[in-house]
Amino acid sequence: MSSPAAPEVQMRPVEMHIYRPTDPAWATVVKSELCTGKKAAGICRHIELDVSGTNLAGRCFPGQSIGVLPDGVDGTGRPHKLRLYSLASPSRGEDGKGNVISTTVKRMIDEHWETHRLFLGVASNWLCDLQVGDRIRVSGPNGKKFVLPVNTNAHDYVFFATGTGIAPYRGMIIDLLEANCSSQIALIMGSPYQTDLLYHDFFLRMAQQYPNFHYLTAISRERNGEFDRLYVQDRLRVDADRLLPILTGGRALVYICGLAGMELGIFQELALMLNGSTLEQFLKVDPEAMRDVRRWNRSMIHKQVRPTPRVFMEVYA
Ligand SMILES: Cc1cc2nc3c(=O)[nH]c(=O)nc-3n(C[C@H](O)[C@H](O)[C@H](O)COP(=O)(O)OP(=O)(O)OC[C@H]3O[C@@H](n4cnc5c(N)ncnc54)[C@H](O)[C@@H]3O)c2cc1C
Repeated sequence: MSSPAAPEVQMRPVEMHIYRPTDPAWATVVKSELCTGKKAAGICRHIELDVSGTNLAGRCFPGQSIGVLPDGVDGTGRPHKLRLYSLASPSRGEDGKGNVISTTVKRMIDEHWETHRLFLGVASNWLCDLQVGDRIRVSGPNGKKFVLPVNTNAHDYVFFATGTGIAPYRGMIIDLLEANCSSQIALIMGSPYQTDLLYHDFFLRMAQQYPNFHYLTAISRERNGEFDRLYVQDRLRVDADRLLPILTGGRALVYICGLAGMELGIFQELALMLNGSTLEQFLKVDPEAMRDVRRWNRSMIHKQVRPTPRVFMEVYA
């Protein structure tokens, strides 16, 4: 299937490193609330930070992240290292003035494999324990490659998320829809169970309100209505009626954010569904690799399987 020539992609210019970790800004927690269902297997909180009076105010954009410096020291007595957290707030901030930014934090809970003792991730649990009024040190913003384009109306959007990878899309989708962007916008959100979907009610409301916004979930350990278990990439197949016209329209940008590894399945499915110039808008694939798409592995990405500038990735462990 071929598609019209794609418009050039020009990314929104954003600032970075206004505050370095060595000279961070102080922010105040103004909200911390659960953003999963009450009985979710993982615990995620939506945390809002007041940055008014700092140079971060009005200068943080969806798709960027902030650095968080947790209080305390590690096992060797050194201050804890900085961790990055994606912004979940829209460009106007949570308050409409750019003074309140937000992020989405998942408590990292693990078990030491040798001692089978509980291990609690340092920064994520520290952040989730914070109370309204607590002050924290932040740096950034970081990142300039995973942002919206300048001319938002010139493109359609397919956003793939797993877990807290949803954070940047919350801000981007608010930005797009509040600006009356008429583009087609599809958000495909993956989680193990229905209760782990983040901001689910919010996205359902947005999808009801805006006919050009399509919210599709992919639950990997439970049935999805008429379908059995689904991973994000499976939505491309089972919702081809809705997604194929967006992908073949010649204007689409694909964003992938969340668990490292999720990009492989998405690329395989794109290669199975699209061909010729349509596939080439998103992926340049060596002819050899094209012979057996189902056998691709992660080490082939950026080598035999190369995402084009129309594909944006922010994946982390
Ligand atoms: C660009 C970017 C954006 C991100 N955005 C988000 C976001 O929006 N939300 C979010 O929740 N996360 C996000 N992350 C991940 C985040 O930065 C942290 O990595 C995550 O919260 C875990 O940090 P932690 O301090 O809680 O865990 P850590 O204490 O750093 O532990 C991390 C891992 O190391 C293992 N580990 C560490 N020390 C030990 C030990 N002594 N014994 C055994 N195991 C150990 C743990 O099992 C765990 O798997 C992002 C990462 C990047 C790179």
